Amino acid sequence: MNYILLGPPGAGKGTQAKKIVEKFSIVHLSTGDMFRQAKQSDKAIASLMEAGKLIPDDVVVNMVKNRLKKDDVKNGFLLDGFPRTLNQAVELDKMLKTENIKIDAVFSIIIDNDEAVRRISGRRMCECGASFHVDFLPPKVKDLCDYCKKKLFQRADDKEEVVKERLKVYDAQTKPLIDYYTKAGLLVDIDGSQSESAVFDQISKFIANKK
Ligand SMILES: [Zn+2]
Repeated sequence: MNYILLGPPGAGKGTQAKKIVEKFSIVHLSTGDMFRQAKQSDKAIASLMEAGKLIPDDVVVNMVKNRLKKDDVKNGFLLDGFPRTLNQAVELDKMLKTENIKIDAVFSIIIDNDEAVRRISGRRMCECGASFHVDFLPPKVKDLCDYCKKKLFQRADDKEEVVKERLKVYDAQTKPLIDYYTKAGLLVDIDGSQSESAVFDQISKFIANKK
């Protein structure tokens, strides 16, 4: 049971990944988590991340390569955040071949860009860690936290123009990946405009049928 999860910002990929690995007792291989961990011990990675720069392909590839050698992945895994480019997908195939591992499917959560923009640009955060959404989870008093009454703010990454740019980058990078996995017969489209639980059902059913 080895899967890859693809989805643009706003598709709810993180939430789905958590639910999937829990339900099927497989390992969540998130490059985001790997980066955060590596940041603690690796100064080069830490400085790249702090500068907001992209981690070079070969660094990412090596990180995943080392992770795939660990024993816990043998019971199955869900790759999240990797591969992100065609080059990474090709590198992944090489690693998998060496380790004699096969991918069962690549889930691609699809939502249209307007919906993604609406979901992300509507987010409002509080210093206390609480988060809200202007449409889906509005605070009781506009722009004020329900819990500590502080003024809510919007993360720079969540601003409409920035989201549009992030989506553009995602589309450009992912298009070749989608083609690659379609040709490999592995791609499974998931309608991300459904509710969170409906998305999860669709993915769960697919995995359960494959077992
Ligand atoms: Zn608060």
